[in-house]
Amino acid sequence: MATAATILDEAAIMAAIADVPDPEIPVLTVGDLGIIRGFVANPPRVRVSPTYTGCPATVAIEHSIREALDKAGFQAVHIERVLFPPWTTEWITQRGRERLKAYGIAPPNPSALAECPQCGSADTEEVSRFGATPCKAQWRCKSCLEPFERFKCH
Ligand SMILES: [Zn+2]
Repeated sequence: MATAATILDEAAIMAAIADVPDPEIPVLTVGDLGIIRGFVANPPRVRVSPTYTGCPATVAIEHSIREALDKAGFQAVHIERVLFPPWTTEWITQRGRERLKAYGIAPPNPSALAECPQCGSADTEEVSRFGATPCKAQWRCKSCLEPFERFKCH
């Protein structure tokens, strides 16, 4: 059964889903978010951690991963939702952080301050806890006066 090894090629499975975009922030992939926790061969499944609990994007992300697996011929591979350890914004890769910034969203940062993605100033303030989605907060830069969104930290 030469095909069995081909079908369960972990690297190919990971490559098939790494570029699935985040439905909320399409410049980020699931690889950038760091939510793919690995592949388990028996039974074949990819382990995926949801981002924010209750984030409506979770179901959409799993749906997109399912589609990517099917398209690549990995219909036999299931998706396992892994809640522990819980995802934190620290899992976002360096490339993901740079993409967020280029997209105009301040990357998550454990400090209470956010750097303005427009001008880089640290003189910013939170306007609202609730941005366009539950995962982002609305901020404003006091230097260039531009509003921006910030990825919320856990
Ligand atoms: Zn600014």
